[in-house]
Amino acid sequence: MLIAPRFPILSLDERRLTPALGYIFDVRWLLPGESIVSILWRLARANRLPGHALVRLMGADIDPYEGVEPLRDAVDMRRLKGMLPLPGKVLHASLLDAGQRGRYHPVFRHCRQCTSLGHHSVTYQMSSEGRCPAHGHRLETRCQHCGRETPYLLNASLVGSPYRCAQCGGLYSSRSPSAFAQTSAMRKEHRIAITRHFHNRMAGRFNL
Ligand SMILES: [Zn+2]
Ligand SMILES: [Zn+2]
Repeated sequence: MLIAPRFPILSLDERRLTPALGYIFDVRWLLPGESIVSILWRLARANRLPGHALVRLMGADIDPYEGVEPLRDAVDMRRLKGMLPLPGKVLHASLLDAGQRGRYHPVFRHCRQCTSLGHHSVTYQMSSEGRCPAHGHRLETRCQHCGRETPYLLNASLVGSPYRCAQCGGLYSSRSPSAFAQTSAMRKEHRIAITRHFHNRMAGRFNL
């Protein structure tokens, strides 16, 4: 006979994420402008955390399966900062500004080579961006296996499929990045190109 758990399962998962119990994250894994999806994928891979538990970090009232838009005014920033051991400016930059509504891609958009190294930039979601500043590849939205696109929403489906298509499970690149891949895995000139591009955007008229 099944016995109902004393606590809802989601709050147990949430407890696993409290710093008191510890989880692995290293800010050196990130490049400037790393998107919230990229941050959550790294957390998921390094700590074997399920997508729905990570989506709960975005707000106590958010349904993890429905998800939430990756916008600063949609996410509970105070909660996120309390839960993740990352500088506030890193989290701020990882999310889109509410003013970007309608100006960012509603589906996940990526550079295959960056994905193979565990990087996804917040700028890849902006309509005004066409190519990866490091590799020069056109940013892609369709999965090369099933041809489908995945909504760019922080939900259990996207967050729970690190570096893979949430529709079919196929990898976005030819290989999966290591769970603890350092940014140094990327060539120095590529890291510089991504960093420079992000800072140019920050200084530009668009508010990232
Ligand atoms: Zn790239
Ligand atoms: Zn697919």
